[in-house]
Amino acid sequence: MRRWTLPGGCSTSISVSANACQQLIGVAAKEADLPWVAEFFELFKTPWELAVGGKHYRVLLSADDQADTVDADLALVYGTKELSIDRRSRSVVGALVGPVDVRWRDETFPIYGRAASFSGQAYRGVLFAGTAAIDYRQTSGAAILHRIGYDLFEEVSYLLTRGQPRSHAETPTLELHIELIRQCLQESGVSYVEIPARPYKCAFVCCLTHDVDFFGIRRHTADRTLAGFAARGTVGTLVDVVRGRRPLDEAIRNWLAVLSLPLVLLGLARDFWQPFEDYARAEQGKSSTFFLIPFKGQAGVGPDGATRALRGAPYNIREIRTDIEASSGPRTEFAVHGIDAWRDADAGRAELKELAAVTGQQKPGIRMHWLYFSDHSPRQLEDAGFAYDSTCGYNDAVGYRAGTSQVFRLPGTQSFLELPLTIMDSALFYTDRMGLDRQEAMERCRGIVQHARRFGGALVIDWHERSLAPERQWGRCYQDLLNEVHAGVVWFATAGQAVDWFRWRRAIRFSLEEGSPHVHVEAPTPSPQLPAACLIVHRPVGRQIEAEETRFAGQSQTLRL
Ligand SMILES: [Zn+2]
Repeated sequence: MRRWTLPGGCSTSISVSANACQQLIGVAAKEADLPWVAEFFELFKTPWELAVGGKHYRVLLSADDQADTVDADLALVYGTKELSIDRRSRSVVGALVGPVDVRWRDETFPIYGRAASFSGQAYRGVLFAGTAAIDYRQTSGAAILHRIGYDLFEEVSYLLTRGQPRSHAETPTLELHIELIRQCLQESGVSYVEIPARPYKCAFVCCLTHDVDFFGIRRHTADRTLAGFAARGTVGTLVDVVRGRRPLDEAIRNWLAVLSLPLVLLGLARDFWQPFEDYARAEQGKSSTFFLIPFKGQAGVGPDGATRALRGAPYNIREIRTDIEASSGPRTEFAVHGIDAWRDADAGRAELKELAAVTGQQKPGIRMHWLYFSDHSPRQLEDAGFAYDSTCGYNDAVGYRAGTSQVFRLPGTQSFLELPLTIMDSALFYTDRMGLDRQEAMERCRGIVQHARRFGGALVIDWHERSLAPERQWGRCYQDLLNEVHAGVVWFATAGQAVDWFRWRRAIRFSLEEGSPHVHVEAPTPSPQLPAACLIVHRPVGRQIEAEETRFAGQSQTLRL
């Protein structure tokens, strides 16, 4: 056994064995962080175990502020407290108060909790906050120590519970935490297997979803909605044309729509708010999910305890039964657009029952109307019987509230999963939200699609029920977005299918034998409508890293690292 020799001739107990190493990551973490460790390694799906004292690991991820007790070739030592390693490395540890923007090569990502800076004799690393280094690296023979000055699992906990503020919405922070570890493994020449967050031969998963807040303009006579429509469809449209924010052909369509209103209301012309028909035409057979309001005119209660009458919807699921039945099919999912389910399991049960009465689904998904949510919502929604939630997003931004677009388990639940919402039309276009014009909106969306190509995950788009129709007419932008998504191989799934696929990925287990280069991968066979997963073995070949991909469709498979 070799000892880790540090400058000044001291040595710590991080040491390297000349024998064959464990082909998994040993993780040392604080007791309180263990649930977040488990969740982190569902997102970065690679073999790991809680580090056993005295056992040699090829890679050790230490985040328990006691790094000098375990044995590894590559030690990734996270934390903000000064450790004996730092003293022996003659690194001076400084304290930074978060949030801190960290620069890592071409990326910048935020640290929300505390961070540590390092100065002194140690070799500077790759992470900087301003001019301060927040990591350092040291090598001793073939062994590498990478000291990183933040608390990884506290960051993971923050992202998956509180979520990112709007200012950092477009940074896939959690994915960058994973990517940093990948880079460390690859640059250190470590072989490892991983199951990426995407099906085999697919770049990512895409869910086209639609919150149905209104259904048919014919339901509105002399109300605020109709007055708003008439105002925006006439004067508002003219202002848009003058400001160059709307082409003339769309403006003419709006004016004609307003002129035809009397005929529509009398039932003599087609109602132009028919979301099932409009989206079937626009999406051309791609899978689609509609979130439907269970109770008409019920405004519910907000997280601040207030009731806003405007939140009450003008229809309910039972009223549109015929439309639902006519649009049903294997590529269409109906789910609940919840009112009070976020705060009360009984209310959730009642809302679920309304959908079940029409579709027969016993365990549907839910997204809350106006994205209402609280710390207690996951437990309430699971108790009510929902399979998943898709509320984790922004009303006034696009991107990654949880720092990822992967499906994750919500804290405090047994098996309740969150399918985070990535892009919402009203967030992009409403003047009191992001207020973007179409070109700016596409630029933002393009960046998000590029992240999806890089990291996988589920890109969840929410285009509302009347966004293709007058007077919004956000259909061109929707088509541009679909074309951008469709430029690569993508699995278009309903929200429920996407959740099922990620649930199945979570069921995949690795097993390794001591001293063997083989990894066994096992999982139940997924249901037939779900695509296979992908096993990637990253292996150093000369100075390059080779990534070999194999298809995995359940049962068991053995890989050689
Ligand atoms: Zn809504």
